[in-house]
Amino acid sequence: MSPPRPTVIVKRRRALPFFSRHPWVFSGAIARVDGEPEPGSEVDLVSYEGRFIGRGLYNPDSNIKVRLYTWDPQTALDRAFWTRQLDLAVGLREQLFGDLKSRTARRLVFSEADGLSGLVVDRYGDWLLMQLTSRALAQRQEQLVELLTKRLDPRGIWLRTEKGVLESESLELTDGLVYGEEPPRPLFIEEHGVRFGVDVIQGQKTGHFLDQCENRKAVAGYVPGHRVLDVFCYSGGFSLAALKIGQAAHVTAVDSSESALRTAAANAELNEVATRLQLEQGDAFTTLEKLVANGQKFDTVIIDPPKMARHRRGVAQALKGYQRLNRNALALLPPGGLLVTCTCSGLVDNTAFESMLAAVAVNSDRRLQVLESRRASADHPVAVNCPENDYLRCYICRVI
Ligand code: SAH
Repeated sequence: MSPPRPTVIVKRRRALPFFSRHPWVFSGAIARVDGEPEPGSEVDLVSYEGRFIGRGLYNPDSNIKVRLYTWDPQTALDRAFWTRQLDLAVGLREQLFGDLKSRTARRLVFSEADGLSGLVVDRYGDWLLMQLTSRALAQRQEQLVELLTKRLDPRGIWLRTEKGVLESESLELTDGLVYGEEPPRPLFIEEHGVRFGVDVIQGQKTGHFLDQCENRKAVAGYVPGHRVLDVFCYSGGFSLAALKIGQAAHVTAVDSSESALRTAAANAELNEVATRLQLEQGDAFTTLEKLVANGQKFDTVIIDPPKMARHRRGVAQALKGYQRLNRNALALLPPGGLLVTCTCSGLVDNTAFESMLAAVAVNSDRRLQVLESRRASADHPVAVNCPENDYLRCYICRVI
């Protein structure tokens, strides 16, 4: 018989979130640890009164000391368990997309949202991109790669890491090939008839902002004949959708990253819309101010900034940033214009973001009507027990 699992005992009156199936147990909620769990090993989470809550994996060197994966005392976190979880995650995407060639890139596994806290897997054509954001799952890398290979038969799997995550989890991992052939650079994908060359090895995040995929298509539906300003354009996501799907008349696209703009230019050529796209390198905040000062007008302005708040104490500053961006965007839009404004700062909640928009409208003496309040695409589901996953909003608004 194997020895009993070590147990992590939750402080008095702190167990409710975990009974409610939130998967992250922070150090502040823990009364004590019984036994000597190795980093990455299975532990049982138990209430102060001794009731079993859930089973998870232990990391003494992270703020998240335990990540929970099951609330069933009979379930072990073994190979059969990971196989089942991966199967459920991949099954959803098969149901969503089938073999559809219209979206050759998609997220297959989205961490907590798929009951796999610490694992993100994206499919880009024949390749998989894998991110391991917990030490315990990083220790299971070989097994996960084997299971993914068996289930999905990719040409290769590339591992990507993020510096902040490595530090917060005390993880030692480096980017690189973990299976098969190295992905080509660029790797070509197709999204609703728009082609993108993606650099999955060096591009931002995992190379392409998959979470905005359906929002790009939705926005395209509003812009036939429009003169569009796409701020924070990266490799041309919204711009190319507007030009190719939406038949916009012209797009001016702004980003601070030279390499993103180089990719955007190549992608515009690839889609034969380069003559209607003007790319500008610069800081979004000052570029918007310059355009306002020059009296420029657009039919549609798209604002899709990177995450603006990394900590709770950064939320007020983030809201000020959003306010500045949106105020200037409104000044560029005549009555009847379209404002597409996004936030991916999970810490800025909807109410705060919408209050910011309301204040901007009042201060600009404009009316703002929300036509659609959209989230990430369905391949980035939200686990209702882990609202932290619900980080993205894309508001499509009419300005009067
Ligand atoms: N809309 C894009 C994704 C945007 S990601 C798409 O659909 O694919 C955010 C982008 O903002 C990145 O490309 C990053 O280079 C850019 N960025 C970050 N800070 C910036 C700044 N201050 N000014 C301009 N661009 C900035």
